[in-house]
Formats: sequence, structure tokens, C-alpha cells
Amino acid sequence: MRKPGVLLPLLLEHFLKKPFTLLYPREEWPLPRGYRGMILWSDEACTGCRVCFTICSAKAIEMIEDPEKKPLEKGRVRKQIPVFYLDRCMRCSQCEESCPFDAIHLQGGVGLVGYIREKMRVPT
Ligand code: SF4
Ligand code: SF4
Repeated sequence: MRKPGVLLPLLLEHFLKKPFTLLYPREEWPLPRGYRGMILWSDEACTGCRVCFTICSAKAIEMIEDPEKKPLEKGRVRKQIPVFYLDRCMRCSQCEESCPFDAIHLQGGVGLVGYIREKMRVPT
């Protein structure tokens, strides 16, 4: 068994160190480059092509009617837009890589907190 005095330098060393933890959510660790955060979706770039919806194996994307009926090229209008359920999304990045119009980016941070599922979605 160690003598109590042996631990004293170790105790002092840790007593003088800054705390390792952060006061989240006021403080946040910088995210590493390439980290897959929450989904950012570009309304401007999206054409409603449904590729993301088809590719998502987690069933985290639903296609809903486009409330704006945004005009596209050649007189067409966008009929649907995707809704991303962040509580279901596993950040696999398949939708980001497959979107032909570069409308999805997984760079939206990490803090997902909420009680109501409908509020944990993009677009809100
Ligand atoms: S794949 Fe891209 S362009 Fe197509 S519906 Fe999804 S977000 Fe929109
Ligand atoms: S990152 Fe993966 S799980 Fe999340 S919405 Fe895109 S395809 Fe689905």
C-alpha cells in the first residue's frame, strides 16, 4: 500500500491544472476539419430531384410539397422539397455526396437538443 504522502505531488499537480471540461453550450471545442455535423440545406440550389430521399438508408428524409413552387429552368417548377429529420440522421453523408446540385452540406455543428421531433428538422 502507498503512503499517503506519495500522492501529495500528484494531488497538487491536478489541483493547479485548468479544468479539462468546457462550459457547454457556452463554450465549444473547435470541430476537426471534415467533421460531419448537422445538415445544412440550400433552398436556392435544391431542385427537388429526390435523389437524397432515394439514397438515405436511415429514412431520415421525407419529400413534402414545395410551398413556394419555386420556378426552375425551362418553365418547370419545383414540386417537392426534402425535409431532413436530424434525430434520425446518422451523418453518413450519402445525401451530401449524391446531391447533383450541391444543395446539402453536413457542416451544421453538433448541438442537437430538443423535446419535439418536428422542431429537430431542416428546414424548420
Ligand atoms: S438531392 Fe439535392 S437537389 Fe435533389 S432533392 Fe435532395 S437536396 Fe434537393
Ligand atoms: S447524412 Fe445519411 S442518414 Fe443523414 S440524411 Fe443524409 S443520407 Fe440520410
